[in-house]
This record gives sequence, structure tokens and C-alpha cells, in this order.
Amino acid sequence: MTQTISISEFHNEPLLDFSHCEVWNNIQTALCEVRSTTFGTIHPLIIGGEEKRTKITFSRKNPSDVSEIVGFISSACLEDVTRAIAVAKNSRQAKEWASRSLGERAEYLRKTADGIREKRYFFIALMMLEVGKSAHEADGEVCEAIDLLRYYADCAELLDQLNSASLRSLPGEKNTGRYIPIGVPPIGISIQPWNFPLAISAGPLGAGLVTGHAMIYKPAEQSSITGYHLAKTFLDAGIPEDILCFLSGEGESVGRELVRHPAVKAIAFTGSKAVREEIEKSIFTFNHTLIHDLPPSERFPKKAAALEAGGKNVIIIDNDADIDEALVAICDSAFGFSGQKCSACSRLIVTGNRGFYSALIERLSEAVQDMPVGPPEMLKYIVGPLIDRCAYERVAMCMADAKSEKRLVVTGTVDPEYVKKGYFLPPMLVEESNCSSLRSQKEIFGPLLSVFWAKDFDEAIRMANDTEYALTAGVYSRNPEHVQRAISEINAGNIYINKKITGAIVARQPFGGHKMSGNGTKAGGWDYLLSFMDRQHISEDTMRRGTPIE
Ligand code: NAD
Repeated sequence: MTQTISISEFHNEPLLDFSHCEVWNNIQTALCEVRSTTFGTIHPLIIGGEEKRTKITFSRKNPSDVSEIVGFISSACLEDVTRAIAVAKNSRQAKEWASRSLGERAEYLRKTADGIREKRYFFIALMMLEVGKSAHEADGEVCEAIDLLRYYADCAELLDQLNSASLRSLPGEKNTGRYIPIGVPPIGISIQPWNFPLAISAGPLGAGLVTGHAMIYKPAEQSSITGYHLAKTFLDAGIPEDILCFLSGEGESVGRELVRHPAVKAIAFTGSKAVREEIEKSIFTFNHTLIHDLPPSERFPKKAAALEAGGKNVIIIDNDADIDEALVAICDSAFGFSGQKCSACSRLIVTGNRGFYSALIERLSEAVQDMPVGPPEMLKYIVGPLIDRCAYERVAMCMADAKSEKRLVVTGTVDPEYVKKGYFLPPMLVEESNCSSLRSQKEIFGPLLSVFWAKDFDEAIRMANDTEYALTAGVYSRNPEHVQRAISEINAGNIYINKKITGAIVARQPFGGHKMSGNGTKAGGWDYLLSFMDRQHISEDTMRRGTPIE
């Protein structure tokens, strides 16, 4: 008999309909709620269910208006790391959690998704104030967080089913298999970036939990308030208190200590290339060293990791492309959330004759000049602020270099009322001639788009691949042969044909890169959970050979 295995009718969470004024009214109410509940509050660590406000805290400013403090955040120290690990290690809850089936744990992810949905407007408003997202972008992220949790719950159940359906047992021989969490006891960590503070935290955390780990979650410094509310939502959904600790604090102390701790065996990290490289080296060293003076359960060197990092993403515009369609996608991909998406387009390669190139640059320049820049709370602004002073200065310097090298084509304008209030920079278009310049190679993570001309499609593909990253890429073309060549020759984790290159959707476009962009894991894909599990098989001889004598 053939058994059918499927992820039962997964539906993505629908986006809000922003044409209704009720939606905008709800957002205004939620902004007031965040201002009245969060501002001035010290957000604690959570270890074994206990909230701890630390003596040392740091504040989070609204990037659109730096005079506004969104809240204070407790900063964990190394003793807090030790305590959180001890809770995870010695807890009965943790043992019991690890012994449950994938399917049993999946229910908690669905309940957490429901909790996020209930707080939808709160999370939208919080992300607008804490990281400067537009309401649309923030709503998309809430949907993504819900999708990731519900999808991983479905995947967990699917893997349970696959286990039983894929094994044959013969008469006298019983074969069973199961997926087990990594590490004894299974302790995982999730270290995440600020630019998707809800979705990219909820997904890996949910994956670590559903695969049986006690998880320690360290959010990015810039988005720890969203992180705190997310951790609370998991706990409110019934995740046992020893199974999820929340440790806000500095990456270079708390994050590094968590990564290096010998008891931590599963690591979910998303962030910059530099930190990814450090974590990778640390795992390599650990996995090649036997530490004799540790207890047997910890001594053996195996850490597993899902490591996702940045990109230097590209769109190729072929000479027969529909410019009208391409323009919208280019602007959205390059300047949405001020270019602060890992998938953002930072290189545009235009092929064909110079006339086509000039026409495209002219149209793009008009579009860039027309993009209003200001706080996302005011609906008329399309481009918002950079995340913090450090990012502002880094991108501003890059823009100044382009200007002094006479590469600048055009910039947009920041509304003068807000120039000094927040970390606003205008979108910028820069013409490049050199693929190996620093600006063409480094991830800028801001609203700067470099444009290159390629004499033909061959050269365009060569240029597209001339980077250490391989995250997203797109091509606009009406030539089926070129489309096919782009698919087979461009090295990127996600390739988009005649559409924008940001906004991957769970279960439809599993997301993740190669080379320095990632180690091949696909967030929002059916196999993501496998990164955090080992597979075990049991074969039993069930033939009876006589009765034991009592
Ligand atoms: P980051 O690397 O500075 O920080 C990421 C996380 O790592 C933070 O929580 C930080 O506190 C922590 N951290 C910092 N130093 C650490 C250390 N030495 N050891 C352990 N942890 C440490 O990145 P960011 O600025 O928060 O995020 C932006 C980056 O993330 C960009 O490069 C972007 O492309 C990338 N990103 C990638 C994806 C993807 O799916 N591939 C998604 C979102 C963001």
C-alpha cells in the first residue's frame, strides 16, 4: 500500500489590506500602546522563567527620532550565560521535552503563531519604532513569523510520518527510526540580526524547540525589545520555562560565550559575514578537539549549525527587458527598508547597447529622485531611516566616496524637517566601472545601488558571479535562452526571473545562500529542521527463542 505524505494544505498568512482606514487606525492605536507601555521600561532577561533586570542596561533609540527612547534593555553577563546553560542542562522539563515526539512539540509552535497573530498590531508598531520599518514591511514580517512557525510545525509532523512510512519491517524483524535532537543534553542557541527581528528570530527559535532542544535566544542589540516580546509570546504559548531562556546583551561577550560553550551543540545564527566566519572557525576548532577534562556527555566534539549571512545581490537587465516592470522591482529590491535586507539588490547590471543603458538610467534616476525619505510613521514616506549611528556613518562615508570619485548619478532627498532628527540617508544611484572595487564587493546594507554596463549577456553573468556572496539574484529578460542561462549559470541561493528579488515567502521560496552567504540551509523550506537533528534507527529481532526460566 502506498501512503501519501504531504504538508497538509499550507496557506500563507494573509497580509493586512492597507486600503482600509481601520487598519491605519489600529496602527495608530498600537503606536500609542507601545509608547505608553514600552517607553521607559527596563526589559529583563528571562532565565528558567524568572525575569532578571540587570544593573547594566542599554537604551534603544527610535532611529527616526533619536530623542525618543523606545526602552531599556538588560545586558546579560557571563554568569547569566552559565546560569542559562545550567538550567537547560539540569532541568527535568528539558529531558521530558527532548523525549516528546516531533508532532507533540509542533503544537507549541502553532500556539505561538496564534499568539503573534493576536499581537499583530503591537508587533507592527514596535518594529516601526524600534527598527524603523514601514507599516507594510512590518506587517509582511509578522506574516512571515506566523508562516515559519506553522510551516515548521507541519514539517515536524511530516518528518514523523516519513519515519514510519519509509521503513520496511519483515516477519521477525521490527525496524523503527526517529529523529533526535543534537547533543546530550540537547542545548541550542539562536543568535539573530536586527533587520528581521520577529521573523528571523521566530523561525530558528521554533526550529530549535520543535526538534527537541532547550534553546537560549540572544537577539541583536538593536532589536532586543521585539526579541523580548517574542520570547514572552513563546512562553505564554506554554513552552516550558526551562526550555527557553532570553539573554539580551552584547554579541561580542554573550553571543561569543554562548557559541563557544561546550554544552551548546546546535547553533542557529543569522548575521554578518564577519561574525559568521568567527562562529564557523569556533565550531571547526571545537569539532576537531577532544576536551578530556569535561564530563563524557560534553566532551565529544560535535556542534551543528545553520549559518546565514549577507549578500551582494544582483539584478541583470537584459536589453529586451520591459523597463516599466523592471523599474518597480529594482526600486523595491534596492531601496525597500533603506536597502537593509540581506536580499536587497545592491548591483544592477544592464546589458546591450549604450542607448538602452542610458534610457534605463534616466528612468531610474527619475524614480530615485521621486522617493520621499522620512519617518515610517508618516505614510507618505517610502524610504525610512538607517538602523543606528554606526550604520548611518558607514553608509554616508560610502556615499561620500562615490561622490568624490564622480560616480554619483543621482540621489533622492530627505525631508528637511527630519534630516537632523533621525538616521536618514537618501537613496543613491552610482555608476560603476570596476567590479572589483570595494564598493562593488562589500555588503553596504544601505540605500545605495551600483549600476554596471555589460557589453553582452555573457559578460553580465560573469560580473554577477564575481562576488564572494551567493544569496539572491534576478534577471529581467524576454529571451528564453537567456533566462535558462541565468538559471543554470548564476550562483545564488535564490534566483528570481522577471520579479523583485526580496520578500521570499515561506513554503514557496525557501530562503538561504551559498558561498559566504550561508551554509546551504533554507529558511522556510521543508528540510530546515534537519540541520538540528540526528537520525536514529532501531532494528529488533522479534523472534522468540523459547521461554525464559524464572
Ligand atoms: P551582526 O553579525 O552584527 O549581528 C548578528 C547577531 O550576532 C547579533 O545578535 C549580534 O549581537 C551577534 N554577534 C555579534 N558579534 C558576535 C560574536 N562575536 N559572536 C556571537 N554573536 C555575535 O549582524 P546584524 O548587523 O545584526 O545583521 C545584519 C547582517 O545580517 C547583514 O549582513 C545581513 O545581510 C545579514 N542577514 C542575513 C540574512 C539571511 O537570511 N541570509 C537575513 C537577515 C540578515
